[in-house]
Amino acid sequence: MAVSVGIVGATGAVGQELIRLLHERNFPFSSLKVLASGRSAGKEIRYKDETFIIEEATPESFDRMDIALFSAGATITKTLAPEAAKRGCVVVDNSSAFRMDPDVPLVVPEINPEAVRDHKGIIANPNCSTAIALMGLAPLHQAFGLKRFVACTYQAVSGSGVAGMQELENQIKAWSEGKDCPPETYPHPIAFNLFPHVDVFFDDGYTKEEHKMLNESRKIMSMPDLPATTTCVRVPVMRAHSIAIHAEFEQPVSLEAAREAIAAFSGAELCDDTANNVYPTPLQFSGKNKCGVGRIRIDSALDNGLAFFVVGDQLLKGAALNAVQIAEEVVRLQA
Ligand code: NAP
Repeated sequence: MAVSVGIVGATGAVGQELIRLLHERNFPFSSLKVLASGRSAGKEIRYKDETFIIEEATPESFDRMDIALFSAGATITKTLAPEAAKRGCVVVDNSSAFRMDPDVPLVVPEINPEAVRDHKGIIANPNCSTAIALMGLAPLHQAFGLKRFVACTYQAVSGSGVAGMQELENQIKAWSEGKDCPPETYPHPIAFNLFPHVDVFFDDGYTKEEHKMLNESRKIMSMPDLPATTTCVRVPVMRAHSIAIHAEFEQPVSLEAAREAIAAFSGAELCDDTANNVYPTPLQFSGKNKCGVGRIRIDSALDNGLAFFVVGDQLLKGAALNAVQIAEEVVRLQA
């Protein structure tokens, strides 16, 4: 069954990956409309030997469209996603606009694919750090029963889209030329630096990114009361987020069973051989669909605890890949 597809935010970091993945995964689209802001209307996007003319995203863009993949930020989603849904178009959204809406399924296909069935026109894709952390946490939860977790992230600048990548590149270039390059996208210089500040601060001292990770993990794993805490840090890495996780489980854990659970999980690649310096790194996992899990060890501070390190390309599993996997599930259910 072929479907008509649209991408809202096609010129962005996630949008570019969506175009590539729809082609590479042979997504059954009969037509592909690329949409962005009025600033980009009329410009071209090239993918291999195909040229797409960008159109401005408007409510009418979704007339006769079956599936729309949104990656244009929460404000655009709040305006246009209901318009698309009203026209019978199923929206898969990368922004935070509807993730915690009880009427909107929040889906990671390796974990809760059945939730896709409950959609009312809009399906949400999780925050990038959440999706990547869950590629390690979910299989271990299946094996031992998760009780609580503590996570610290090391987040790449591509998590802030094209602007974040440009800022890191510009600051490194300026530094190599002995020039000044003051921050614009971030509150501090990102080159040769890091800061525990991703998204805005809330009154409780946590950031919005940290809240997203905790609340979305609970929703996806159907564990509304799961105790968890996290610190999200921006680091000068171009692409792929890393997350150090300490988790306590209901059942006794073993390294052998933990490694087996990770190796058997479709979203993860076991990458754990410290004798040979094998553990996941952002360079190694940039551009990869699977997330690497390594440094698995018994956590010495927790009962039935495991410590481990997860790395994943947040433009892929943390955004575009997960969205295309959801769209594939939508098509499969409609067939
Ligand atoms: P980005 O590189 O800044 O791209 C933003 C896109 O939104 C561009 O295509 C832009 O089009 C479009 N846009 C802006 N205003 C618009 C408007 N009024 N109407 C239609 N399109 C408009 O951002 P990104 O990193 O791809 O992120 C996009 C979304 O995905 C955000 O919600 C973000 O939170 C989410 N997300 C990103 C990541 C990540 O790793 N980057 C991971 C998970 C989720 P123009 O070029 O015309 O301005």
